[in-house]
Amino acid sequence: MTCTCFIIPDDVLKRFAADPDLSAELRQSFHHSVEISQKTRAVRDQNAALTLSTISLPFPIPPIPIPRPHRLPAGQVFDCHTGTTLPGTPVANPGTSADATIKRAYVEEESVAKFYWNVFKRDSIDGHHMTLISSVHYGVKYNNAFWNGTQMTYGDGDGQVFVDFTLGDDVIGHELTHGVTQHSLALNYSGEAGGLNESMSDVFGSMFRQWEKSQTVLTADWLIGADIMGPMSKQKGYTCLRNMANPKDTHALAPQPDHYYPGIGNLDPHYSSGVPNLAFTRAAKKIGGHSWEKAGHVWYKALTGFGPSPNMTMSQFAARTRSLATSMYPNDASIHTAVDSAWTSVGL
Ligand SMILES: [Zn+2]
Repeated sequence: MTCTCFIIPDDVLKRFAADPDLSAELRQSFHHSVEISQKTRAVRDQNAALTLSTISLPFPIPPIPIPRPHRLPAGQVFDCHTGTTLPGTPVANPGTSADATIKRAYVEEESVAKFYWNVFKRDSIDGHHMTLISSVHYGVKYNNAFWNGTQMTYGDGDGQVFVDFTLGDDVIGHELTHGVTQHSLALNYSGEAGGLNESMSDVFGSMFRQWEKSQTVLTADWLIGADIMGPMSKQKGYTCLRNMANPKDTHALAPQPDHYYPGIGNLDPHYSSGVPNLAFTRAAKKIGGHSWEKAGHVWYKALTGFGPSPNMTMSQFAARTRSLATSMYPNDASIHTAVDSAWTSVGL
């Protein structure tokens, strides 16, 4: 069972590691980032396997009683001081830290917890009040951010191709949503399930960004990673990592297919996710208003309402959302129509 949860796919890192426009030092930092992602994979796999073995037990884990009014889960921030030992040194009072990265990591992890509670009544990413842990200043000019199965980690970026990874609220929402997926549908990180896993993180990461900014489906940019693009990426014409509303966008660092085909599961999940991303975007746009209010609730129920399904296919997920759109909104057929037509338009 795997949960590979880096925001930047390996092939993008390797592309920059070989880019002659970059200085030798910058290229080296990309080589280093690839190396770290490979070594971290083993740790992640262990954590995800442990979670699945627990949530697959034949008896339910009793909910932890929470005193009312609801308290948000605790948030902690650790400083790696450019080292790579996790979690690093604990930071006292990160919410008032003079270090902008530390403060931002804390404020945003709290905000994600608020988003999941206020919108979906989910108590932290595991649904059981789990403390949210973020480590910042990981590695030297480390060009990535990742969920390792138990916590978040952010690199500072090299300042040229990528900037501080805590600057992307959608990046933070994306990574923490890998935790939600790990504790609900428990999707594998390969095959079509891998593409769905990545898509859940983009969908809820983008929704979180829209919720924080009070954007409607029309004012949202539907971009992933727009705020972590460094000056050199912008100069090369890149605006984001991925564009959910237009997966093939060549201004994205990692353009994706926008239509389903048998065999799409052979792609890296960061690419196959484009198809379910586009389906969600189209459904939400057709419904209108705020993405998290209706389309978001259908997707959330599909993700969290039925227990683990590690090998789920894209068509199985599509069928589940179609069915939920009807059962959750029995008096508004337009919701089902929007969801149904969105999936049909991407070939599912
Ligand atoms: Zn991811």
